[in-house]
Amino acid sequence: MPEAVAVRCPSCGAPLSQTEGTFIVKCSFCDSECRLVSKEAGAQARETSELFSRMRESERIEAEVRPRIEELNGKMSGALAEGDKEKAVR
Ligand SMILES: [Zn+2]
Repeated sequence: MPEAVAVRCPSCGAPLSQTEGTFIVKCSFCDSECRLVSKEAGAQARETSELFSRMRESERIEAEVRPRIEELNGKMSGALAEGDKEKAVR
């Protein structure tokens, strides 16, 4: 069961209405997006940001290796094309 917390906008101090199951709420006064601080929401927010950082990490690795993969793929199809030419000659 989520803990009862008084949720106030950190920007303008207006009370925020907390909807069960959501952990990002938008302040209707100043449009700030706020993270809810219930135990459950906090855990979900942490997991989400951890998953996002793993995703960014994998994107970084992909950006790093993709040019190399494409280079090798190019060489391989070059080599295969050469092989086909040899076969055709024989
Ligand atoms: Zn606000």
